[in-house]
Amino acid sequence: MISETQSTVLTDEQRKLSAVVREFADQVVAPAAYKYDTERRLPLEIIGQMGELGLFGLPFPVDVGGQGKDYVSLCLAVEALARVDQSIAVTLEAGVGLGIMPIFRHGTDAQKQRWLPDLMAGRALAAFGLTEAAAGSDAGATRTSARRDDAADEWVIDGSKQFITNSGTPITSVITVTAVTGRRRAEDGTEQPELSSFLVPAGTPGLTVEPSYDKVGWHTSDTHPLSLRGVRVPAGNLLGERGRGYANFLRALDEGRIAFAALATGAAQGCLEEALRYAKERHVFGHAIGSNQHIAFTLARMQARVHSARLCWLDAALKQVHGKPFKAEASVAKLVGGEAAMANARDASQIFGGYGFLNENAVARHYRDSKILEVGEGTTEVQLMILARDLGLAS
Ligand SMILES: Cc1cc2nc3c(=O)[nH]c(=O)nc-3n(C[C@H](O)[C@H](O)[C@H](O)COP(=O)(O)OP(=O)(O)OC[C@H]3O[C@@H](n4cnc5c(N)ncnc54)[C@H](O)[C@@H]3O)c2cc1C
Repeated sequence: MISETQSTVLTDEQRKLSAVVREFADQVVAPAAYKYDTERRLPLEIIGQMGELGLFGLPFPVDVGGQGKDYVSLCLAVEALARVDQSIAVTLEAGVGLGIMPIFRHGTDAQKQRWLPDLMAGRALAAFGLTEAAAGSDAGATRTSARRDDAADEWVIDGSKQFITNSGTPITSVITVTAVTGRRRAEDGTEQPELSSFLVPAGTPGLTVEPSYDKVGWHTSDTHPLSLRGVRVPAGNLLGERGRGYANFLRALDEGRIAFAALATGAAQGCLEEALRYAKERHVFGHAIGSNQHIAFTLARMQARVHSARLCWLDAALKQVHGKPFKAEASVAKLVGGEAAMANARDASQIFGGYGFLNENAVARHYRDSKILEVGEGTTEVQLMILARDLGLAS
């Protein structure tokens, strides 16, 4: 079977990291996945072990508490975890891509010193609150507002957020929230909302983490609506420049999509491995079902989807590492990866027959979990919009 470790573009160190995380996934994460999925609980003990392995610090320099590796390494870790448990993988992906990365890129020295050490060690988790009831794909429609209280040298934030990953765990330390801070005249002369980002520490008065959603999948991953009522944060909690919130989160999302695509690739790979094993073991009409050409071809097609998805995220991640533009490549990877995971989850469940409908089998969990891979961090249609614009077409 073609595997990620055979890629000729990976370094020996990256190959080794991938093998270590794969082993951790098989020995620690996979055996507990059904239990935690049923309990709908994020296993902090597993997050702690991931922290000890250094996974949350992978793409960051050593001098800020990171592991001194790169974005390819992070994606390899996310892919290896998603093979067996997408919820655990997205806790890492969102924790790093949405939680840590904006603070690392746009934070002041004081903000970095306060938040990054615990986040990079996996002792704490950070979240990114962008989506609102009326602002999902159209994030520019944000209604949450922040007004300056000059006398108190504070910002006062009011509004609400939807679907915020890692926002309500016992170790969540900080949530980056986007809010409208005024209006600005854009280059085309139109007046547009000015968006800025703020660091809201967990437990700040006025911030309410509402109860978890009843989700179709990703049961172990922590996702909540948030309400913000007169939330006061010091002026020093503005993250990045005032009015740069929109540009900063677009960058965070572009980059995050690459790791999200690696997550989808891992899911597609997990489905392939499970279905291949089952196709060899399960005997019907006196022979292994894998000896039927239809099932063999289905598995061959699943392999082709995994390989294509992997090449796409790898190309985007390598461009990120080499400082090249990667926006369109990240969208292609997100699009191809999400569709590969959904298709492989459907095919793997079919190969499992009735047993593919039982939650105790990983393919059933992948079937439920994979749908969000076509929606989260920009829907399939949003990726198509980005790619159509890249082709010079209005969309
Ligand atoms: C489990 C989970 C975790 C999440 N984690 C986070 C998080 O940590 N932080 C965060 O900020 N958000 C998070 N989200 C939110 C997620 O990013 C949004 O759900 C997603 O961006 C889509 O927004 P929406 O749900 O409002 O859909 P909408 O924007 O309402 O879109 C509805 C449908 O219309 C389509 N559509 C919209 N406009 C167009 C158009 N112009 N052309 C064609 N089709 C269009 C969309 O593609 C979609 O199919 C999470 C969501 C989930 C479910």
